[in-house]
Amino acid sequence: MVVTRFAPSPTGYLHIGGARTALYSWLYARKHGGKFLLRIEDTDRERSTDAAVKAIFEGLEWLGLGGDNPEPIYQTQRFGRYQEVADRLLAEGNAYRCYCTKPELDEMRAGQMARKEKPRYDGRCRHRKDAPAGAPSVIRFRNPEDGATVVPDLIKGDIVFQNAELDDLIIARTDGTPTYNFCVVVDDADMGITHVIRGDDHVNNTPRQINILNALGVKQPQYAHVPMILGSDGVKLSKRHGAVSVIEYRALGFLPEAMLNYLVRLGWSHGDKELFTRAEMIELFDITRVQKAAARFDIDKLVWINHEYLKRAEAPLVAPELRWHLERLGVSTAGGPPLEPVFLSQRERCKTLVEMSEKSRFFYQAPTAYNEKDAAKHFSPAAADLLELLVADLRVLPDWQPEPIHVAVHAVAEKRGLGLGAIAQPIRLAIAGMAISPPIDQTLALLGREASLARLTAAITHIRDPK
Ligand code: GLU
Repeated sequence: MVVTRFAPSPTGYLHIGGARTALYSWLYARKHGGKFLLRIEDTDRERSTDAAVKAIFEGLEWLGLGGDNPEPIYQTQRFGRYQEVADRLLAEGNAYRCYCTKPELDEMRAGQMARKEKPRYDGRCRHRKDAPAGAPSVIRFRNPEDGATVVPDLIKGDIVFQNAELDDLIIARTDGTPTYNFCVVVDDADMGITHVIRGDDHVNNTPRQINILNALGVKQPQYAHVPMILGSDGVKLSKRHGAVSVIEYRALGFLPEAMLNYLVRLGWSHGDKELFTRAEMIELFDITRVQKAAARFDIDKLVWINHEYLKRAEAPLVAPELRWHLERLGVSTAGGPPLEPVFLSQRERCKTLVEMSEKSRFFYQAPTAYNEKDAAKHFSPAAADLLELLVADLRVLPDWQPEPIHVAVHAVAEKRGLGLGAIAQPIRLAIAGMAISPPIDQTLALLGREASLARLTAAITHIRDPK
């Protein structure tokens, strides 16, 4: 069975690159009817925080990329196990104790630098017979000295490393704590990981990990190292380019499904298809077709995808998200029009939920001011007269529905021999405080008669007696 994993180090939020790696691993597992497991790589106690663990889970949950293990694995809870495996490697001669002191290592390094050699541990404790009793020691893995280690990468093809280039990695420090690469190996083996999909910043770790797996007699997983993500300027994606934390995109008004769709296409394609449902992603995603070159983050494309999703979304699923955004603006939706029709009336013109919430707040709050430019253009004494006629007609309209409202608005314009624009823009401004809104009839119908008439009347007063 295919088993993949996502193994973040909890030193910050879930960033774009991490989310994409998680998605690729998740898709691979789903496609092959396998499992996707979560592991928190928290052995770096100084940099790992509980807040980051929470933020990562929050990001994954928002994207719907939960792990199949009931509880994620935490490396800090497995120190006993790492110790056990280190002892086994020692007992079998695949690891050894190294007693070299810091001054000794510094001197070794200085000598290598002076000879213009690559600094590396020279293996002097490999055969040490005179182990100083009670002296502090680390445990080093006995890396093969000759030959090559091949990383058969599903994206990059075979990557060959000469073993002579890899020195003997420390697997346990003087205080007995395990080191990063060693924990990864023990965990991948114990979790039965068959496919390691991760960022290509880890590619140099892989031959070391493979050699340790070989020493343990564990079948090596397949590897896929995903190229990194650059900003639109070709430099590694960072805060400078805008939000890098996935969860920030929720606050910026993106839908999780749109984000996933964007991420899956970041470095992978299927013909010229741009929009993928989750089921299509599972069916069509192919890790071997992830491109070798770095991907570029393009916010305009994400915005475009988001708009496509908004246009197709099921209103009941998005309405709560719109409410969340309105509440973030300090707008309470209680007592106002229901959110689903508001969403439906706005989605053609709004590309993000932030834009939509800003353009929809008027449904829940009467304007406290009118856009000056719009008012100068549309609030004339003639407009006040038109609005007055309209108020009189709307007050007695038998049925407060878009269709009769539409007829009434047209009738008022016609009575004065004017085009619709002459009345539509003053209405918008009266209702929304700006000359943008969904179609007038829908807007008034949603807002309700009482609120509509109150706002129209307030506008008439304002035009005739601006304070
Ligand atoms: N903890 C590593 C990271 O966050 C991932 C290690 C791995 O996937 O092997 O970059």
